[in-house]
Amino acid sequence: MSKLYYRSTRGTDNRIESSRAIVRGIATDGGLYVPEAIPQIDLPLGSLSRMDYPELALYIISKFLTDFTEDELKYCIRKAYDKKFDSPKITPLVEKGGAFFLELFHGPTLAFKDVALSMLPHLLKVAANKIGIDKEIVILTATSGDTGKAALEGFANVEETKIIVFYPKDGVSKIQERQMTTQAGDNTYVIAIEGDFDDVQRGVKNIFSDRIFNEALNRSGYIFSSANSINIGRLVPQVVYYIYTYLNLGRSGKIGAGEKINIAVPTGNFGNILAAYYAKKMGLPVGKLICASNENNVLYDFINTGVYDKKRKLIVTSSPAMDILVSSNLERLLYDISGGNADIINSLISDLNKKGEFKITSEMKDKMADFYGDFATDKETFETIKYVFYNFNYLIDTHTAVGYNVYRKYVDDSGDKSKTVIASTASPFKFPGSVARAIDKKYAGMDEFSLLEILAEISGLKVPNAIKGIGSREILHSTVCETSQMKDVITDILGV
Ligand SMILES: *Cc1c(COP(=O)(O)O)cnc(C)c1O
Repeated sequence: MSKLYYRSTRGTDNRIESSRAIVRGIATDGGLYVPEAIPQIDLPLGSLSRMDYPELALYIISKFLTDFTEDELKYCIRKAYDKKFDSPKITPLVEKGGAFFLELFHGPTLAFKDVALSMLPHLLKVAANKIGIDKEIVILTATSGDTGKAALEGFANVEETKIIVFYPKDGVSKIQERQMTTQAGDNTYVIAIEGDFDDVQRGVKNIFSDRIFNEALNRSGYIFSSANSINIGRLVPQVVYYIYTYLNLGRSGKIGAGEKINIAVPTGNFGNILAAYYAKKMGLPVGKLICASNENNVLYDFINTGVYDKKRKLIVTSSPAMDILVSSNLERLLYDISGGNADIINSLISDLNKKGEFKITSEMKDKMADFYGDFATDKETFETIKYVFYNFNYLIDTHTAVGYNVYRKYVDDSGDKSKTVIASTASPFKFPGSVARAIDKKYAGMDEFSLLEILAEISGLKVPNAIKGIGSREILHSTVCETSQMKDVITDILGV
């Protein structure tokens, strides 16, 4: 098979092997690594549909990570998709309310990020060995709630790694916070930041691009890497479940051979929907990519006007994993629709940094015709949870509700009757406060930990093991700091 190289969206790093791109996380020029070309599905879909999840993962991932051997990838896949997932299907599909919910939350932290983050630590270790890195890998992660816990779970006790997670102190749910602050593992560190997610994300990005700081750490035997969705080792495993789902629909007779489906994705950093876009570019029959935002509707405006404008106040919503004003992974789409022109990307990014906004050309905008963007307010999100629960006897979380709400708006707008897959990104048990209150106002303000049992009772579901008894677990992490102190915290932890 021919070798696939990666390059930076900002033009300085070129012909980078996938293992190096995974270890670095972010390109040296601050850009994101993208494959030089999107590999194609080169077998008939019918023959792929006999594969189980790990087999399909091997087929897809080996096309992107071409410098890994088959045995190395098999090892990473086996380590990732084991009993940690409470469904042998890994990402089961549930038909409700006229759509197909792709339940991506059956992993150890009850959110879709587990699908990629249970594999990334293994990819990273194999990659580091491959390129002869003799330093300890330090994962720095900014989280709006779900990435942090999923990364902690993935990296806890993985030898020769440390993981440091920063989260916005008042920007995550109580359950999310407790999931992180109770994390075990000698190599795990969790720090609350006074600020919102964008502050935290900017802080981490600055540390990654601080050459002097990085060199000092290198001399002390450490190397930074990222578990955020800017790492292509996160993105590639996510492509798998869209293809798996399509095959699933075909096998069960829900769609005909070659029939196009639409995919609706509740979106924050634009990673999950970008994976769906890559699946489409690989040759999967996909029509529209429905980008669903919450009240932080920067992407909705962008898709509809071609202007990306971050000059607004971040709104804290009931879908906190999507409370984001600067969607990092959008840069990969911009690069693609610019025809791979790093000069254009550099000028857009510079406009964003200097003026707080950028505008793409109409040619670029035309290339985004497959994307539909809309948003749901918090009120609509609550109504959607209630509607889906009472009409279809199905409990969804706030993020998934944003996805379903926008899917319904799209259908009303377009009359498009294509079968649609909704990326169901979190378990309702992860956001019990909002979910219970949506179903009945009498639960408003109740303690999130006791609401877990109430939700189980009204839904007839069991409280997932991953979260059972979390209210009484011991808190192991309690550091709080300002964004300006992030570097100091890291040097303290590493003792340098
Ligand atoms: C992270 C997350 C999202 C947003 O995904 P992106 O890849 O950042 O767009 C949506 N829902 C949940 C529950 C998440 O954890």
